[in-house]
Amino acid sequence: MRRTRLLSTAALAATTMLALALGACGDDDESTPTTGAGASGAPAAASGPYKIEMADSFPASPTLDEIRSRGTLVVGTKFDQPLFGQQNPTNEELEGFDTEIARILAQRIFGDTDKIEFVETVSKNREPFIQQGRVDVVIATYTINDTRKELVDFAGPYYIAGQDIMVMADETSITSVDDLNGRKVCTVEGSTSEKNVRAEAPDAEVILVDTYSACAEQLTDGRVDAVTTDNVILLGLMAQNEGTFKLVGKTFTEEPYGIGLPKGDDAFRDFVNDTLEIAYENGDWATAFTSTVGVVQKTVPTPPAVDRYSAA
Ligand code: GLU
Repeated sequence: MRRTRLLSTAALAATTMLALALGACGDDDESTPTTGAGASGAPAAASGPYKIEMADSFPASPTLDEIRSRGTLVVGTKFDQPLFGQQNPTNEELEGFDTEIARILAQRIFGDTDKIEFVETVSKNREPFIQQGRVDVVIATYTINDTRKELVDFAGPYYIAGQDIMVMADETSITSVDDLNGRKVCTVEGSTSEKNVRAEAPDAEVILVDTYSACAEQLTDGRVDAVTTDNVILLGLMAQNEGTFKLVGKTFTEEPYGIGLPKGDDAFRDFVNDTLEIAYENGDWATAFTSTVGVVQKTVPTPPAVDRYSAA
């Protein structure tokens, strides 16, 4: 718990410093109402560290219509994944790269990063939550793949992770995915991590739980020999439990993170892809990265090109 707070405080401090630095630039655009905001009467000034302006027009999209008439963007995300989506125990605010990407999208839709309702999603309920309309979008370390594309659509990718293995700091017998055969390995139900580890280490005993923080507990207690999922999720768990775990360090998959969307609303998908590209261009994506994942990964990567695939 104590370490959670320390990390959260560091992330918050970084965000605050960035906000101050951006504010100090004296960029006129940040305090001047945008055309779009003025035209619709919605709040105009940027409310966070981001530069992105409210869109000056909106395409015909059922999802966007509903979001705008409701007045909030409903976002499914993880609540217990340090660096990506984690609830700060002191103020209950969600912190992480995924939640910042959500705030950038809200700023483009409403001119206000706060017009968001976050709903907790775990790996296995992301497609159903989108399909049932319980959320407008899912931003939750969510790998784009063809199986999922049969049920939902994806904007992005906005980040590329890779699956890795985390073991106790003093473990020496597991140095690659092959070494998981015959061992107990924890991962999350409904994740690509589950599918990948079953394919790569068919004789591993896979223990499935709902969240990666539950896997970290199982590893600490000695109930499993390893945890496997995306490297950046594991890095977050390591930062939260300093000195306890280590990464094997050999990624064996590519996990492009996308924004999950209702299937077939191509105008909304274009709008979200446009938003990502604006955030790549104007530095907002890098600001979001630096204040979150950047706490453990100092080099800001080049954002991946968005994939405007044609729907099946
Ligand atoms: N990125 C992988 C997935 O979408 C693993 C992480 C997760 O479960 O959120 O399944």
